[in-house]
Amino acid sequence: MQTTPVERVRTRFAPSPTGYLHVGGLRTALYNYLYAKRMGGDFIVRIEDTDQTRKVDGADRSLLRMLDVTGIRADESMAHGGNFGPYVQSERLATYAMYCQQLLEQKNAYYCFSTAEELEENRQLQMKQGLQPKYNRKWLPEDMGGSMPLSETRKKLDEGAAYVVRMRVPDYISVMFDDIVRGPVEFDSATIDDQVLMKSDGFPTYHFASVIDDHLMEITHVIRGEEWLSSMPKHLLLYEFFGWEAPRFAHLPLLLNPDRSKLSKRQGDVAVEDFLSRGYSPEAIVNFVALLGWNEGEGTEKEIYSIAELVEKFSLERVGKAGAVFNVEKLGWLEKQYIKDRPAEKIIAAMKPLLEEEMAKRATDMEPERITSDDYLREVVELMRERVDFESEFVTFCDYFYFAPRSYDEKAVAKRWAGDTNELLEEFSEVLESLEDFSADAIEEALKAFVEPKGKKPAFLIHPLRILTSGVGFGPSLYHMLEVLGRDTVVRRLRKGMESVPAAGS
Ligand code: GLU
Repeated sequence: MQTTPVERVRTRFAPSPTGYLHVGGLRTALYNYLYAKRMGGDFIVRIEDTDQTRKVDGADRSLLRMLDVTGIRADESMAHGGNFGPYVQSERLATYAMYCQQLLEQKNAYYCFSTAEELEENRQLQMKQGLQPKYNRKWLPEDMGGSMPLSETRKKLDEGAAYVVRMRVPDYISVMFDDIVRGPVEFDSATIDDQVLMKSDGFPTYHFASVIDDHLMEITHVIRGEEWLSSMPKHLLLYEFFGWEAPRFAHLPLLLNPDRSKLSKRQGDVAVEDFLSRGYSPEAIVNFVALLGWNEGEGTEKEIYSIAELVEKFSLERVGKAGAVFNVEKLGWLEKQYIKDRPAEKIIAAMKPLLEEEMAKRATDMEPERITSDDYLREVVELMRERVDFESEFVTFCDYFYFAPRSYDEKAVAKRWAGDTNELLEEFSEVLESLEDFSADAIEEALKAFVEPKGKKPAFLIHPLRILTSGVGFGPSLYHMLEVLGRDTVVRRLRKGMESVPAAGS
């Protein structure tokens, strides 16, 4: 019995190493990864460095590192190896040269010796005439429908003149394909330029190299940004010239600013690296980026997806055509959700180096062993996880859990102190000192029992207690905060505080 072999899905992310990884690039990488993994296939990273003038040293490594950090693991790349390498285009020049020769011989491509000045002049002229600028085919040879005698081309080649190789776009054909995201798309060949395939420096252009590599690397699905849609006719013609079957294509919607303008590629603040250094976690960034153009289905409320869940749920059919608005507030919201659910152990491990760094700069008024212990940090984490925006804030936003206040919020003091505040605080610190059980509940009860006979509300002392122990007028539940700080620290800070905050209202 004969069986049809099932095609192994292979996708690729093909960044140019021109700088940092943009969030749009991360989305492209993620969708390629998710689709490949969903289909049990391979995800390849290919470095497209054919534009040597824009190449930035080390950018290839840092792109790969960002993918590793965000959990978008390549099966094949310059760092991971694989059977289809090299995975860097500048190491494949001989291959491109060979295929270029084939197109020249087939008369699908021709040498062009037009200078930059000539091309510019031609461009200006066409624009003046209201035409779309295109190469004027000066060097299209006689035997390919042009007017340049072959002898002229040969002469230039013999002289060693600089040249490029251009593809010869057939006249009057239309190029059609079915995009997975956008549906059927059609182009008229009259609008297609005789694209340069080989540049004068011996490097191929992106169009030429990427088609050859996608074929040789057996890529089955090309998933990339919408900005590449207009290159499709050139790419499809190349597949035709070579007699190769083209992969399937999915062009992802543009990323937009909240005002619906196009999200710039050059804006420094959309680099994945910057988001990480601002404190966003890889999980939240990946989750955020996944939702830029994809959703699980109409009416789903679910917004939190781990990368494993995304692999299970992702489909290209559910990628939308409409531009996806990039809303940083949503990323902030996601980050908070992740912090709420993250295991305390993970947070503690991340906090410790930060805390140690702070402790090297600043003396603590508490026992160093205690405040760096897992038990203590766990209590801080559980009390603060609903209140912080970033993991680092477990240290920075509530530093009073580790250090005595350096000052007391003046406005809060002015608002909360009355003539007899310090007197009552003094008395209450004695109550706290002798309290057997220093739990939040016991502290709350003791405070109520203390203020009631004096005709005051608990709030009369709640705010001053908070200010003197933390320095600020806001924070988690006071009773819980005092419990975590512990009796000694609380009483010590109250006594010290009263010296610095004289009965302000008096
Ligand atoms: N090297 C291109 C880029 O930088 C890749 C485009 C494609 O995926 O075909 O985006």
